[in-house]
Amino acid sequence: MNTSDKLKILADAAKYDASCSSSGSTRKADNKGIGNAANSGICHSWSADGRCVSLLKILMSNECVYDCSYCLSRRSNNLERATFTPEEIADLTINFYLRNYIEGLFLSSAVFASPETTMGSMVEVCRLLRQKHRFNGYIHLKVIPGSSQELVRQAGFLADRLSVNIELPSEDSLKLLAPQKTKKSIIAPMQQIGEDHSGFQRERKKSRNAPSFCPAGQTTQMIVGASAESDFRILTLTENLYSKIRLKRVYYSAYIAVNETPQLPALNTAPPLIREHRLYQADWLLRFYRFQADEILSLAFPHLDERIDPKAAWALRNFDLFPLDINRASYEELLRIPGVGVTSAQRIINTRRVTAIREQDLKKIGMVLKRAKYFISINGRCIAGSGIPHHHLVAAMCKAEQPSTKKLLQHSRQLRLF
Ligand code: SF4
Repeated sequence: MNTSDKLKILADAAKYDASCSSSGSTRKADNKGIGNAANSGICHSWSADGRCVSLLKILMSNECVYDCSYCLSRRSNNLERATFTPEEIADLTINFYLRNYIEGLFLSSAVFASPETTMGSMVEVCRLLRQKHRFNGYIHLKVIPGSSQELVRQAGFLADRLSVNIELPSEDSLKLLAPQKTKKSIIAPMQQIGEDHSGFQRERKKSRNAPSFCPAGQTTQMIVGASAESDFRILTLTENLYSKIRLKRVYYSAYIAVNETPQLPALNTAPPLIREHRLYQADWLLRFYRFQADEILSLAFPHLDERIDPKAAWALRNFDLFPLDINRASYEELLRIPGVGVTSAQRIINTRRVTAIREQDLKKIGMVLKRAKYFISINGRCIAGSGIPHHHLVAAMCKAEQPSTKKLLQHSRQLRLF
């Protein structure tokens, strides 16, 4: 099989991995090598189902010795298999890079032979690129759970970003759907990367000659909808990954049914794209809006409302805290108002230092008034008036959804018809 045939198979197999954002690494070109890593990172394109696909987003191999129920590349599926050599991937990357097709490499793999052999080959790709070809562009490398600490460390010195896929939100689901994987084998390399990342960052503050370790941090990906965990469970896990292991991003991937298996949704089940979208919104609240997972959801309300975004849903559940006076509310309180983002909250604080805010200033500040007006007051007067029934507020929040979310909602409703 030639390289082009392998590329066709292994680029297609990589499209199910959603964690390919390349933000966070900046490295200027030097005189010794070629290329540079910029914040924009890998060139992205978007597949028909809305997923991010990069031209050189590939698997090293799809010849898997594991048999995860949810995966197309699992051992028991009868499909065309291929494996690249490290030299082939390094040559492809360099050639695509020189032709300006790509700005970096996103490399993942099925487990061929063993986790150690697979990881060893992936690290070799990075070594060839960095040391033989003097490639200075962006590299995002998947870490194979079960590989040795030494290989994970080598990967961290060569790649910009590492990620270990957590795959499923609980150990029970792993046992059921991916029995060769364990929570321990996934969490251990995450912890190691987190500790090494912080350790080498500290070293670099003391000395600029200290080596750089995984400068763009680590991410993970979780499949949503293949197993029974609630959104509350998923968000609590996410919160722990951010706070305890200092992950840069958690990516959610709506489960696409590719195998007929009794433990999984049927083949004709549509991917839960709205749920994925709401989880990303809730994730945003955790990272930028100072929310805790148990404020967004609870055991009593374990699922995100698909009709409205999680911040509006929280505000409606806690309507007794509103309206907030726009001239008196703290920065933390402003962040809780639907229609007020991080930038507009900061603008409100800055403007108030000079002058009181008037109703006609609100749009200029960047507030989304069609959402915010129900939750704010100026000089004791609620902008939208008082005594509005709850169901009207819910309807108003649904109506005020972003056009992209409306499209997604419409699309998912249409899918359900069939
Ligand atoms: S390890 Fe599991 S998820 Fe990964 S390629 Fe193999 S079967 Fe698929």
